[in-house]
Amino acid sequence: MNCLFCKIIAGDIPSAKVYEDELVYAFRDIAPQAPTHILVVPKAHMDSCNAVTAENSAVVARIFEVIPQIAAAEGLTNGYRVVSNCGEDAGQTVPHLHFHILGGKKLALEMA
Ligand code: AMP
Ligand code: ZN
Repeated sequence: MNCLFCKIIAGDIPSAKVYEDELVYAFRDIAPQAPTHILVVPKAHMDSCNAVTAENSAVVARIFEVIPQIAAAEGLTNGYRVVSNCGEDAGQTVPHLHFHILGGKKLALEMA
C-alpha cells in the first residue's frame, strides 16, 4: 500500500487526529490554507470522487454527517467551506478521496 493517507490512517505516518470512527478519519492539514484546515477521509482507500459508487457511498454520507460535528467542535459557527479536488485539473495531489474543511476566516470566493 503506497498511499500517503492510507499510511496516516494506519498510524505509520503521524498526523494531528481530530476525529475517528470505524469508517472515517479526520486530521489537520499539514499546510493549512485557513486558520482551521482539516481533511476528512474514508478509511477504505478510494482514489477520488470518481470512485464513489452505489456500493461504497455510505462512507461519503458518514463523512457529511461528521463534517458538521467537526465544524462545531472547531467553533466554526460563522460558516466554513467543504472542498474535494478530483483529478489533475482540480489540483488533486493525494489520490485518496478527501474533503477539506476550511474555516476560521472570511474565505475568498474565487473557485477557479
Ligand atoms: P489535494 O491537493 O486536494 O489533493 O489536498 C491534499 C492535501 O494534503 C494538501 O492540502 C496537503 O497540504 C495535505 N497533506 C499532504 N501531506 C500531508 C500530511 N502528511 N499530513 C497532513 N496533510 C497533508
Ligand atoms: Zn489511500
